[in-house]
Amino acid sequence: MSPRPDRRLDRRTLFKAALGAGLSLPLAWPARAQFQAFPFSLGVASGEPAADGFVIWTRLAPEPLAPWGGMTPTPIAVTWEVAADAGMNKVIKSGSAVARLESGHSVHVEIDGLEPARDYFYRFRAGGADSPVGRVKTLPAPGAEVRLLKFAAAGCQSWEGGYYTAWRSVADDALDFVFHYGDYIYEYRAATVDRDNRPLPRVMPANFGSCYTLTDYRRRYALYKSDLDLQAAHASCPFLPSFDDHEVTDNWAADSDPKNTPAQDFLFRRAAAFQAWYEHMPVRRRMVPRGPDVLAHRHFRIGTLADIAVLDTRQYRSHQPCGDGFKANCRTADEAGRTMLGEAQERWLADLLRSATGTWQVLAQQVLFSRLNWRAFSWMQNSEDGLHRMDAWDGATAAQGRVIDMFKPAGNPVVLTGDLHMDLALEIKHDWNEAKSPCVGVEFLTTSISSGGDGTPVVKNADAILADNPHLKFVGNQRGYTRHVVTPQRWQADLRAVERVSVPGAPVATRKSFVVEAGRPGLVEA
Ligand code: FE
Ligand code: CA
Repeated sequence: MSPRPDRRLDRRTLFKAALGAGLSLPLAWPARAQFQAFPFSLGVASGEPAADGFVIWTRLAPEPLAPWGGMTPTPIAVTWEVAADAGMNKVIKSGSAVARLESGHSVHVEIDGLEPARDYFYRFRAGGADSPVGRVKTLPAPGAEVRLLKFAAAGCQSWEGGYYTAWRSVADDALDFVFHYGDYIYEYRAATVDRDNRPLPRVMPANFGSCYTLTDYRRRYALYKSDLDLQAAHASCPFLPSFDDHEVTDNWAADSDPKNTPAQDFLFRRAAAFQAWYEHMPVRRRMVPRGPDVLAHRHFRIGTLADIAVLDTRQYRSHQPCGDGFKANCRTADEAGRTMLGEAQERWLADLLRSATGTWQVLAQQVLFSRLNWRAFSWMQNSEDGLHRMDAWDGATAAQGRVIDMFKPAGNPVVLTGDLHMDLALEIKHDWNEAKSPCVGVEFLTTSISSGGDGTPVVKNADAILADNPHLKFVGNQRGYTRHVVTPQRWQADLRAVERVSVPGAPVATRKSFVVEAGRPGLVEA
């Protein structure tokens, strides 16, 4: 959409709009800028849906890759409208916010007072330019009976790894929301080839080094968010954002990184990374980082259908045991004191699961929850039996067990995960070593949007991998996302796969579907 010079708002209109939105007025009235280029180059987004509202987001960046996005330190007024129709004719709410350099000229507006389970539309205006229109949907009322919920889980979107065809498909799915499991950006420096020396489908500007400072992370988000397929996904429905490691750096844990940078220094990097994350995510004010800390675990209630706990498996976890990587017989991994959530979040989750009233209990999180023996994976250098991933919950088996103990006997837990750049469908067991141990819940680990490149339709050694892991029902190695279609009776997970990500616009198809019947934990192929 191109900038439209009409309908400029005068000062009085803005003043009234600002008062209407309950915003305090800045001391110096922000300038009404005229931009050299379209300021909404990063699109619009919505997130954090509630029964009565949501967050709408944009960021002014006429030159997205410039250090300040092509902006100056002058605060800029951005007006916004929420309407009942896509044509933006029936405006229900409007107001004004101020975009400032201190927060990367991002705008986060929390809207409330709306009706549950309804589509709304929104747009922004600044300096005579109109943003694209976004569609957003409120959640059902807390006690409402919900007959159908459709959402996607997605993440791991290396920009250079491939085209965002999967995001375009998400945009076309008319979903209630997207859970993003993290790796929204990768912090690595620009490269022209991947780890196997194959040319990358997209190459970042040569001056993109590894991200350390706020400016580095801002430019990285700006590059990623310039992608029109990603913008289409954001404009199509609200997101529930989370983060994994690459929003900061590969395999960080709490106050440490794999290079053993002293905590006091690493935490400056984490603070810069979290500020940029906040600036680019449609999240609420209570998620504004305080230095290196951000409160990212939270609860979404979908009427009587589901309770969704979005978890944070990075900030409070124990450091990876036995030197990280894949290890067999790592005794430290089994120590009782180890944690993935930290004490406070673990208690919060236990309380939440105890009081959850929804049919389905969803743990929306980042790294593989279930036990997995990696021995037979073809790329594994080490073929010892009982090889486990130390960065995942297998690196803290006591914590894994404590969460399984939180599952109610009559409950329907569904764990949603990412991180591994492949599809896994798993049954969660009380006793992983006992084939007959009953299934107490399921885990759907979603593949990457683009990270890792095209992938392969057939997984090498799949038979051996499945034989080593009787609770593993599927392993796939293509790019895509998972579409979850949930009713009070059944949960269906459609594993959506993109034929290739090395070229734009390849076909997307449902590779496999699994069904879980409510009250009968276990995976059934659909
Ligand atoms: Fe990743
Ligand atoms: Ca990782």
